[in-house]
Amino acid sequence: MLVDSFGRTIDYIRISVTQRCNFRCVYCMPNIPMNIGSEEEDVPLEGVLSFIKVAINEGVKKIRITGGEPLLRKGIVDFIAQIYQLNPDIDIALTTNAYLLAPLAKPLKEVGLKRINISLDSLKKETIQCISKRNGLEKILQGIEAAKKEGFLIKLNMVPLKNINDDEVLDILEYGMHLGVGVRFIEFMENAHAKNDTKGLKAREILEKIEKKYTFKLLQQDIFGPATLFEITQAQESYIFGIIAPHNDDFCKTCNRIRLSSEGKLIPCLYHENAIDIKEAMLYGDSQEILKSLKLCIENKPEKNDWNENQTSMRAFYKTGG
Ligand code: SAM
Ligand code: SF4
Repeated sequence: MLVDSFGRTIDYIRISVTQRCNFRCVYCMPNIPMNIGSEEEDVPLEGVLSFIKVAINEGVKKIRITGGEPLLRKGIVDFIAQIYQLNPDIDIALTTNAYLLAPLAKPLKEVGLKRINISLDSLKKETIQCISKRNGLEKILQGIEAAKKEGFLIKLNMVPLKNINDDEVLDILEYGMHLGVGVRFIEFMENAHAKNDTKGLKAREILEKIEKKYTFKLLQQDIFGPATLFEITQAQESYIFGIIAPHNDDFCKTCNRIRLSSEGKLIPCLYHENAIDIKEAMLYGDSQEILKSLKLCIENKPEKNDWNENQTSMRAFYKTGG
């Protein structure tokens, strides 16, 4: 079992399998050329699998595959199948922009994927184009529908941005409500790679928009993540939505996760600059070295995040997986 210096059991790993993406979201990588890197520059998936084997042996129970855009990776379905074969009880999840999801939803379900988080920042074609620089709404919605049809546990992620999509908080909430899937509103995290003038809504501003139409009560911290949950009760039906406010550190005391970046670095906390490079150990399938680094990473996990509102994070979300 992996237990850190503050008694927290670490049983959840988020893995960014590529930094490449088919979108250029304003809050993530707007200024990066469309042709960054190639499949060959990504850490080979067999290497990542050597890391996963070690992590599962040490008690990891949940693995989220993210990116960049994870569905751009050739062999992603086989990769997930191999994780499932290592241990069918592992809760395998994926975070995607859904642009390539529709034809992959069925094969992904068949190989053991259980959950999908899908980024959906708008229901307007022009706004999706403006945020992601891609005319992708139709494909995103097809991806969501295909995932729903396959019976995945789905969550929709929205990052509400001032003067861009902040008028759609209620629309996205109601889209999720009608589809019967949860919505998580994520506060924009300032970072050096985002478009300069990007401003996000804070949790309080998001809640103010929702309370114009709905009454809701505070539930508790999401046991699957750092979201704070709220329940809308109307006409006997209840609907739960969440807000992820990374500017708080309330969720640090129950944090159970570490990250593996697309560059092969083990990151103990998203808002902490330390990381351990295990790329070479993964390339050689050196499980002794991987285990040593994994233990060191857990030992180095800080008690709280070092997030500072006045300081811009240098971390690239497309490398760490968000
Ligand atoms: N490409 C996939 C996607 O967009 O879902 C997976 C990778 S993306 C980095 C993972 C999550 O990070 C997405 O839900 C995205 O909205 C979120 N994200 C990226 N940059 C962010 C930022 N600056 N602030 C808050 N959330 C961000
Ligand atoms: Fe790509 Fe996801 Fe970043 Fe958007 S948030 S640019 S979809 S990695």
